[in-house]
Amino acid sequence: MKIIKEYTKQNKQSHQTYQHAQKLLPSGNTRSALYWNPYPLTMTTGKASKITDIDGNQRTDLNYNNTTLILGHNHPKVIKAAKQQMQKGLVLGAPTETEPLLAEELLTRLKTDKIRFTPTGTEANMQAIRVARTYTDKPLIAKCTGAYHGSWDAVPLNPGAPGIPKGVEQNTIYFPYNNPEEAEKTIKKHRTQLAAVIIEPTMRDMTPKPGFLETIRETTTEHDILLVFDEVISFRLSRGGAQEHYNIKPDITTMGKIIGGGFPVGAYASTTETMTPLKIPATQLPETASPRLGFSGTFNAFPLAMAAGLTVMKEMTKEKYTKIARLGEKMRKGLQKTFKEENLNIHVGGTGSLFHIAWTNQEVYDHQTSTTADRGLANIFNIGMMNKGYYILGHPNVSTAQTRDEIKQALTAARETTQEMKTTIQKRTPHLIT
Ligand code: PMP
Repeated sequence: MKIIKEYTKQNKQSHQTYQHAQKLLPSGNTRSALYWNPYPLTMTTGKASKITDIDGNQRTDLNYNNTTLILGHNHPKVIKAAKQQMQKGLVLGAPTETEPLLAEELLTRLKTDKIRFTPTGTEANMQAIRVARTYTDKPLIAKCTGAYHGSWDAVPLNPGAPGIPKGVEQNTIYFPYNNPEEAEKTIKKHRTQLAAVIIEPTMRDMTPKPGFLETIRETTTEHDILLVFDEVISFRLSRGGAQEHYNIKPDITTMGKIIGGGFPVGAYASTTETMTPLKIPATQLPETASPRLGFSGTFNAFPLAMAAGLTVMKEMTKEKYTKIARLGEKMRKGLQKTFKEENLNIHVGGTGSLFHIAWTNQEVYDHQTSTTADRGLANIFNIGMMNKGYYILGHPNVSTAQTRDEIKQALTAARETTQEMKTTIQKRTPHLIT
């Protein structure tokens, strides 16, 4: 295939690095999401909206470490804050001044009381669920089929995932995204044992249909079940995240990615009341008590993440959220127009600064409909875009470093790539042609 030939021609050093890495790491690297056929690119540097690989190819980034770098690569203010913290000390084995500052910034945005920092979004969700189970004294959690909440045993994408003991699996209940009736039925059926419902308010290419989040909110409130919004990605939608965008308040919010400014991070926030399991009871000196639920972590509230994250949050004014949402909209509309003009019926989804192409002619609104998308075509399209100077993967998005011109040029590249794919589409998925 011409696209693959061009890719291998452009990326010889990446191929060599991959071949070496493959001997040492299962599948050649440490993140399954960063593998694609024939081999992933090895990146060396990033600056603003550009990212450069080991072969010296510079591309416009439309990935930003899967939505992390909302200000683009190496924003000067973020680098300055991180450098200042590095000079003071990398990790000090004690609380730092920046931890409550970032806490205050995030809590003001979320209009809630207390927050805990973790090294990843996965751990934020793990701890949030543990708090919910402790607070409610109930064992079950409910999640959407196909929803990703990090790599841990309680929340596999789908039931029946390998390596998870039955005893763990039976505590997770599933319901389809965007189906308020099923959500309500599931919650009501398990209400006496259900500690929490965990959900991404908006999920990749799937935006919530009117009434879906509202029904979950009402039903969980009615039965004293905690609602956890996983805003690890969606917190980039507005100053107050997706919950502000959709005007629905969860009981617990989990975050990650943008709030660490490019360093590993996670956090979960809730009311003082819900966070009581973490509260250390008051004692008389010289005694010190332990909380009911103790959580430690050598790298929790990592000082560099706190400093860089605080800088990002201070930079992200309302205007900047509006700017990236407009660019996201331009991209989504432009892709829809391009595909239509190329006589293709393909689903383009996403919201705000997030956009997503699903290679299916069906509307994508839940896991079932998302599986109708041809992942092979998605891979070829991404590679074609990489050949033309754009780094695009599974979670396409724009940053504040993006320009309107870059979007315009990316749309031209998308049209050319689609044209190059026409024969493959005709052979593989003729139903996508109108
Ligand atoms: N929740 C969601 C919705 C995510 O997209 C991710 C990561 N992509 C996580 C949780 C896990 O975060 P992390 O990779 O930082 O562990």
